[in-house]
Amino acid sequence: MPATPTFNRREFLKGGLHAGAAAAGIVGTGAVLAGCETTANNSPSSIIDLGRPTPTDWRRLASTLQGTLVLPSSPSYANDRLLYNSKFANLHPSAIVYCETSQDVARCIDFVTRHSIEVAARSGGHSYGGYSSSPGLVIDVSRLNSITVNTRSNVATIGAGALLIDTYNALGNAGRLLPGGSCPTVGIAGLALGGGVGVFARKFGLTCDNLQTVHMISASGDALRLDESTHSDLLWASRGGGGGNFGVATRFEFTVHPMPQITLFSLEYPWNAATSVLDAWQQWISRAPDELWSNCLLLSQGNFGYLTQISGVYCGSPSGLESLLAPLRTDIGTSATSIFVGSNDYLEAMKIEAGCSNLSVAACHLSAENSSGQLNREAYSAKSSFLDAPTSASRTQDLVDAVATLKDYAPTLGGGLAFDSYGGVINRIKSDQTAFVHRDKLAGIQATYSWSSDTSFSDIAAGERWLTWLGSNVFDQASGAYQNYIDPTLSDWKSAYYGANIERLVRIKKKCDPHNIFRFAQSIPVEL
Ligand SMILES: Cc1cc2nc3c(=O)[nH]c(=O)nc-3n(C[C@H](O)[C@H](O)[C@H](O)COP(=O)(O)OP(=O)(O)OC[C@H]3O[C@@H](n4cnc5c(N)ncnc54)[C@H](O)[C@@H]3O)c2cc1C
Repeated sequence: MPATPTFNRREFLKGGLHAGAAAAGIVGTGAVLAGCETTANNSPSSIIDLGRPTPTDWRRLASTLQGTLVLPSSPSYANDRLLYNSKFANLHPSAIVYCETSQDVARCIDFVTRHSIEVAARSGGHSYGGYSSSPGLVIDVSRLNSITVNTRSNVATIGAGALLIDTYNALGNAGRLLPGGSCPTVGIAGLALGGGVGVFARKFGLTCDNLQTVHMISASGDALRLDESTHSDLLWASRGGGGGNFGVATRFEFTVHPMPQITLFSLEYPWNAATSVLDAWQQWISRAPDELWSNCLLLSQGNFGYLTQISGVYCGSPSGLESLLAPLRTDIGTSATSIFVGSNDYLEAMKIEAGCSNLSVAACHLSAENSSGQLNREAYSAKSSFLDAPTSASRTQDLVDAVATLKDYAPTLGGGLAFDSYGGVINRIKSDQTAFVHRDKLAGIQATYSWSSDTSFSDIAAGERWLTWLGSNVFDQASGAYQNYIDPTLSDWKSAYYGANIERLVRIKKKCDPHNIFRFAQSIPVEL
């Protein structure tokens, strides 16, 4: 039970009334508002800036929370401030709150508003831009991670802090599937709010396409329930408009699907076949049934040569997949050096996609976040783009050459291009039906390079130059970029991520967060 805070006269006059209300549980009590506009008691004219929080202010906040406040003086701060990508190890928030309830979230939002400090929501902490950290307060929702599945209505209720591996485990146990992403430690909130591209997306849509309801604490600290009839604009924006822009989601309801038969495959080829592999793959996926999802990986592996791989997931039997693979293999015209085709259950398939197939669910977590976890943080940079249609022979060659060019920049760095098939259900949804605009693509492309603690600064900088070169010279900049691979170096990010949907997103932002409380370098602005 949180202790009741006390107020001195100065604090009371400066706005303790509202803070007192928060302490008494009046803020974010779950009252569902008719609109997301700023509420009267928290309108800008009624907010008195209390200035940067003092240690007493932080203590007072802590006393109102069921969750845990972590300050720089706390023993766990050194670990708790870190994001997944270790290149953000230099970020030092003023505080982190591990919220236990949606009221905790509301109290945090009230606190940052009163003290005019920066805020960022954090779920799995995998933002490519480090945008789930902030110099002010990090509202961490990882403890809001319960998952329940109603197999009669085919609806899963998933806390905003649930990680993908735990989500797949719970759903798999219930015999249900939610299309999601690959990395086991990505948070459901960041994934779903920005889209959610994965191995079942061609058959069942993006994660955000399966989002029915969002429970969110708004910029004014109110608990909103977004569905098709209430706050439908904000629900529209939550389906691909990007995390961190409109409020802090606490819980989602998703449509889930009865489990299909699942077959995985992987084909590897020598690097000298890479051009014909990429060419044949593009033609093949442009004709593929919804049941088939695939990706093509072209990697330069430093001292270990190259990798040319086509892999994927088929909702059907191994024999059905074999017949689909036959024309692809004929078109490639070179023998694969390694072939795998096998039936898997959902959890096993997702663990293979996650790269932790030989680990238990508990072990498929970060060691820093879970005592059984065996995964480590990574350091990488990335850039994304799309293919609108199969590329010409010369452009295909350019894409392959771009991978090999990484060796000219830094011979020992690992990196390359991953092509993920779009199409199917993804493309049958109109581009303005949800905030996720990329509905006419053949494939997404992601360029990445990664490094370890042994990599020299000059190699890391060379990798960055390779990415920049690739973004300007190889990628088709008009084709857009995927907002969940958020890219701090992108200048025209508004149109790249959101296309024509940016105008509606800005209108919703202006209505729901007029004072731009939820802001970061690439957040939806209140004015275009
Ligand atoms: C290794 C790896 C693999 C990936 N694989 C895929 C993939 O297969 N498919 C795919 O689509 N994407 C993939 N991604 C990208 C991933 O979807 C995004 O990075 C996503 O934003 C991460 O979500 P998160 O909750 O882990 O991150 P966070 O860093 O916690 O959040 C990302 C953004 O959402 C905001 N946010 C977090 N929680 C909330 C909340 N409760 N309410 C509102 N806003 C919130 C944050 O402020 C931040 O701006 C991958 C990323 C990594 C690092």
